[in-house]
Amino acid sequence: MRVLILGGTGEARALAAELAGTESGAGIEFVSSLAGRVSNPALPVGVVRIGGFGGVDGLVAYLSAEGVDAVIDATHPFAATITGHAVAATGRLGVPLLVLRRPGWTAGAGDRWQRVPDIGAAAEALATVGAGTAFLTTGRRDLSVFADRFAAEPVRRFLVRTVDPPAGPVPPNLRLLLDRGPYTVAGERALMIEHQVGVLVTKDSGGPMTAAKLTAARELGLPVIVVDRPPVPDGPPVADSVAEAVRWLVARADR
Ligand code: NAP
Repeated sequence: MRVLILGGTGEARALAAELAGTESGAGIEFVSSLAGRVSNPALPVGVVRIGGFGGVDGLVAYLSAEGVDAVIDATHPFAATITGHAVAATGRLGVPLLVLRRPGWTAGAGDRWQRVPDIGAAAEALATVGAGTAFLTTGRRDLSVFADRFAAEPVRRFLVRTVDPPAGPVPPNLRLLLDRGPYTVAGERALMIEHQVGVLVTKDSGGPMTAAKLTAARELGLPVIVVDRPPVPDGPPVADSVAEAVRWLVARADR
């Protein structure tokens, strides 16, 4: 059985490692696909292809040419375009698709979260929430939204953490940190204290790699603006763990 893993996440790498390293993966050939967005990506084990397919038509052509029998969409919960393309392309060809999505984060006792539907709403909320430095962890491509919203209000300070440097407009009064998780609670707490962070802005990415900032914010009593995930399109089954995705693949390989 030939499988395409749409990746770019820790779960996609864990799935590749699981299929490569255990008996359950025997008989399952897989290729991991990355978009090529970051300059020095963490690579999964096994065969990797890098770069877009060229929209739905390009993905249909790839799946047909490679004889792909099943697709796992293990992309980031906010990578909605590629997920939509995967649903459309596999639907057109009748190829089974499983969406692997880590669960989102949930607020606990002591958390001061405000959920917002998108980045624009996060920028609006930020105009009224929290004093002090705003710590933006929503990724470099969304920075232009904060740049536009706060251009005329250069009083607020921003601490921005991204994997690669921003390419477009950035908010005023910016300190830029280039880093990638996983992070520790102690490290996040020290960072927030050092930069006098008064509010944290995050996507609801879920997973353990970047969750320490939420614990640190709770411990420091800081408000957090949490951007909700885009919905998964209707149709494909959704698994919330790598083990479940492996079981889904093995059940198909055994047929
Ligand atoms: P996106 O907006 O959903 O997709 C934009 C385009 O990038 C797609 O139309 C596709 O190009 C290409 N693409 C995306 N993922 C791909 C993959 N795994 N393999 C091949 N092509 C892919 O995606 P994004 O938000 O830019 O994210 C890009 C990648 O970074 C994803 O693989 C995602 O898992 C990872 N990532 C995203 C975030 C985030 O916050 N969005 C965070 C961490 C990691 P074509 O139309 O040409 O096929």
